Amino acid sequence: MRARAEAIAAEIDAVLASPLHNINIAKFVELKCVCGFGMRRREESLKQGKDIRCGDCGRYWTWVGGGGDEVYEFRPSATSFPCEKCKNAVGVTRYDVERGALARCACGAEYAFEPGFTPRLIEPTAGAAAPSGGDEAPK
Ligand SMILES: [Zn+2]
Ligand SMILES: [Zn+2]
Repeated sequence: MRARAEAIAAEIDAVLASPLHNINIAKFVELKCVCGFGMRRREESLKQGKDIRCGDCGRYWTWVGGGGDEVYEFRPSATSFPCEKCKNAVGVTRYDVERGALARCACGAEYAFEPGFTPRLIEPTAGAAAPSGGDEAPK
């Protein structure tokens, strides 16, 4: 009995170590969040393109492929927008936006988000940017 329980535990560990997966039971899809929380959704609601929100940690997941006989694939719900400074795409997850995290471009530009998922460039203010004149060119 005990050996059986350990076998199951090992199986669960293997599942957790693999990318997000799910088991399709009838018309329901199950997926497990990276935090370990299991979610169950109707296949129909996935097809409507709704994000799935983890009831535990609050991360959002988007169905990106698979289904039917195939494994369903989920990715963190994310968006990207062009950087105002360098025009490269800046990616940010919906989860980070909701937590109030900043999106940071590779060029160093930082963005906060207005309600409605609108990125707003944070311009360093003249006074605050050079607290001790460190990197400023000599006058
Ligand atoms: Zn979670
Ligand atoms: Zn940039």
